[in-house]
Amino acid sequence: MHRDRPALGGVGTGSSKLDVTPIDRKRINDALDKQLERSSPSTSRTVINGKDNKPSAPQSLLMPKPLSDQRDSRSASLSKTNCSEESETDSEESDVSGSDGDDTSWISWFCNLRGNEFFCEVDDDYIQDDFNLCGLSSQVPYYDYALDLILDVESSNGDMFTEEQNELIESAAEMLYGLIHARYILTSKGMAAMLDKFKNYDFGRCPRVYCCGQPCLPVGQSDIPRAGTVKIYCPRCEDVYYPRSKFQGNIDGAYFGTTFPHLFLMTYGHHKPQKSIQSYVPRVFGFKIHKP
Ligand SMILES: [Zn+2]
Repeated sequence: MHRDRPALGGVGTGSSKLDVTPIDRKRINDALDKQLERSSPSTSRTVINGKDNKPSAPQSLLMPKPLSDQRDSRSASLSKTNCSEESETDSEESDVSGSDGDDTSWISWFCNLRGNEFFCEVDDDYIQDDFNLCGLSSQVPYYDYALDLILDVESSNGDMFTEEQNELIESAAEMLYGLIHARYILTSKGMAAMLDKFKNYDFGRCPRVYCCGQPCLPVGQSDIPRAGTVKIYCPRCEDVYYPRSKFQGNIDGAYFGTTFPHLFLMTYGHHKPQKSIQSYVPRVFGFKIHKP
């Protein structure tokens, strides 16, 4: 089910990487801007920001490193930060060198990371339509770089970023993808993608005994990023629960939003189960407990 990549598990904890203090972020931002201005006088900024540069710009300008190299460095930095807490990743690290699929887009790489099972793959077309991203640039740091990363647009500045900057851009890409995802799964195409996952029990089942293994749907308790982690909603008992996997439990709830499961069940009414009528009755030696 998962691709073996060294960064497995990296993203479960990934959202916490965004928790740099505002001062740190400003400092890094400033450094980043300064560095960019210094070494790329006029063209490169527009080059990396221009989204339709991908097909037309010369390869030498856009591709200082082959794609696979960048992947390697990303994976390496991610696994470095996580190997101390994740002993499982150690064993995976050895057999991955050189096996990075060049054909794998950032989006499918991201969606296949451990803990990211709830995400569906957002269509490139959806992301490339600026209208769909309206308002996100003010919410996500390094917006342009993060967007390029998500869309696999090679940036001529890739070499100049320090490891710390790369990690911040990586985190920003995660956040940007999450916020795009929250919008996408409310569209008919996104909802159809989530229906496939629902049928596949990708979101887990309700832990309540009388719900008889009812498949659940992801839900956020807030639409504001970093207000809470994702929960699962059971359509039968109409309650919310923590996901079973701690990796899934670290994902931001805003990447799914408060509306999704309910709009989903309105759209696909035939998947809405009968409400559970059975309820658990506590007994002592077979007798119901007297309620005062
Ligand atoms: Zn339930």
